[in-house]
Amino acid sequence: MTICDCIIIGAGPAGTTAAKIIAKAGKSCIVIEKQKDFTNRKCAGAMNLIQALKFGIDPTPVFDAALQPIKGAKIYSPNGNFFEIKTEDFGYDIGGYILDRDRFDERLARDAEKAGAELVMNYLPRWAITDIDYKDGIYSLTRLLKGGEYVDISSKYLIDASGFWSVAGKKFGITSTLPYNEYHICLQYTIKTEAPWRDNEIISIFPSKNIAPFGYAWVFPLNDGDTIRVGLGMHPKAGNPREYLNDFLLRKNINGEIINTISGPIPLSKLRKTRKGNLFVVGDAGAFCDPLTGGGIINAIVSGRAAGKAVVADNPKVFDKEIKPLKRMLRRRWFARKFFYGISDTKMEKLIVKMKKRRFRSTNVDRELLKLLF
Ligand SMILES: Cc1cc2nc3c(=O)[nH]c(=O)nc-3n(C[C@H](O)[C@H](O)[C@H](O)COP(=O)(O)OP(=O)(O)OC[C@H]3O[C@@H](n4cnc5c(N)ncnc54)[C@H](O)[C@@H]3O)c2cc1C
Repeated sequence: MTICDCIIIGAGPAGTTAAKIIAKAGKSCIVIEKQKDFTNRKCAGAMNLIQALKFGIDPTPVFDAALQPIKGAKIYSPNGNFFEIKTEDFGYDIGGYILDRDRFDERLARDAEKAGAELVMNYLPRWAITDIDYKDGIYSLTRLLKGGEYVDISSKYLIDASGFWSVAGKKFGITSTLPYNEYHICLQYTIKTEAPWRDNEIISIFPSKNIAPFGYAWVFPLNDGDTIRVGLGMHPKAGNPREYLNDFLLRKNINGEIINTISGPIPLSKLRKTRKGNLFVVGDAGAFCDPLTGGGIINAIVSGRAAGKAVVADNPKVFDKEIKPLKRMLRRRWFARKFFYGISDTKMEKLIVKMKKRRFRSTNVDRELLKLLF
């Protein structure tokens, strides 16, 4: 039996961030990951650098994995009107980046390893669900395949960073399957375009019931617009995402070769319980995604960091304190989401035309939206 301070399930940004903090403080942790490598991560890769810096996130891995700088966003109405947010208006040249998520996740994992965390890849997921036990204050995981041998491991702390399906959170009754109105199903193509996309440093967002019911479509440029990531997130019961995305390509006259396709769910949930005793549920597993935008990388890092700090302090309540500012922001965004995605296309048209006339005083689009709606 290997005994460590903390077992972490999942080597996404949430899990490896926690691992690095724990290992750096001289505590032992084992990260178990079901994938054999860091390829084909399911993400559009948009990272708001301004927000990341506000949360005190180290930007080095972001720069390392950056594919395209982003200087603003255009939000389009159903009839093609738009309002624009330019990062230069807030004193920033670059507001964020489109990342190579595979490279980003691998970099975070290697940083955790360098700090002393142990990473076990290619771990079979069914064991994470069935073979984790909790008895007398100790979590134990049996039959972990490590270096060709089966071993048992145990720890005082457990971090569930396994993404949307939240294997340990479910097993121990903290998380449950989300209702249909609390997640989006997403589909994204990477397209080598025949003609470069018109806005090569701007992300374009298309919220409309006809384009992506109760969600939005996006176009994120890469290589200065020669390649784009075009995708959508929508209510899981509202139709077939592939039909909607293909229809969107026709509407926007986007032609070219599809070189990659990814799909997956994003939790856009009300805040739920994310800790029980010494078990922390972080990142998508704890539904920490931004309910308005669906962005989850930053929130995964912030919640993973909070769990890591709690393990280091040997005080689980540190987690509750650390995630308070994030939870406050998510609560506000949940309200903004409810109204923004719930309204008809006619109201959306009026709202976006109103937003166009407005001068943004902050990058908090949710605040500006709520001011207009109430
Ligand atoms: C199509 C799409 C586009 C997106 N675009 C963006 C975007 O542009 N910007 C943004 O900020 N966010 C985006 N997101 C959301 C973002 O990808 C997630 O919020 C983020 O990855 C959450 O990080 P995480 O560490 O919590 O989970 P994940 O990144 O999902 O990592 C979980 C890890 O756990 C592993 N795992 C799962 N089950 C087990 C198990 N049983 N045993 C062991 N390991 C397991 C998985 O293999 C994975 O490596 C997008 C999501 C989707 C689906």
